[in-house]
Amino acid sequence: MRLVIFGPPGAGKGTIAGALTARWGIPHIATGDMLRAQVREGSELGRRAQDYMNAGELVPDDLILEMVRQRLGETGVGKGFILDGFPRTLAQAQALDGMIGGVEVVIDLEVPEHELVRRLSGRRVCPQCEAIYQVDTMPARTPGVCDRCGAQLVQRADDTPEAVRNRLVVYREQTAPVLAYYRERGLLRSLDGTRGSAAVVEDIAGALCPRDRQ
Ligand code: AMP
Repeated sequence: MRLVIFGPPGAGKGTIAGALTARWGIPHIATGDMLRAQVREGSELGRRAQDYMNAGELVPDDLILEMVRQRLGETGVGKGFILDGFPRTLAQAQALDGMIGGVEVVIDLEVPEHELVRRLSGRRVCPQCEAIYQVDTMPARTPGVCDRCGAQLVQRADDTPEAVRNRLVVYREQTAPVLAYYRERGLLRSLDGTRGSAAVVEDIAGALCPRDRQ
């Protein structure tokens, strides 16, 4: 299974990819998580990526492609993987096809912009294990504390109103054109991402792995 979870920032890509990966036991490859780990480690890549990320801009393709090429070269991806937040440009989509000979399905999570802004402004994340919460719809059991690992939850630097606005513009201008690329190849499936993540996960699992329906 070589699956891409696609959609604008705040569509729920990370939550849904995380649930599918737990269910299917294939790696969840999230370029945003990988970049944040590099920033935390203070690596050369992290230093080069950080300003783009905080401003809500895309990190240049060559840096992203090098990172993804390395990850896909590691062990554990033989049975497939779930890509989240990648590809985000046409050049990345084309390069990915060159690396792996194509993906099988691209799930596009459709969510209107006013709902994205609402979700992102209430999003809290665990800086340690990357668990994702939403203050209204998916709160932590103890406010501000990660259910999974007990770390103090934070708001992402790029979830500020200004960065969110920029990320939505960047999505419309640079990332949305990737949808046409996959639509032309017959790989795109669009889903209503405004329903709860559990319902979306069931839809995806039912459509791709009918025996896996719960
Ligand atoms: P995400 O966690 O997917 O929302 O990504 C957070 C930030 O990391 C984005 O706003 C970009 O600055 C950067 N980023 C993540 N994935 C990519 C990508 N495939 N191409 C370029 N920049 C990316």
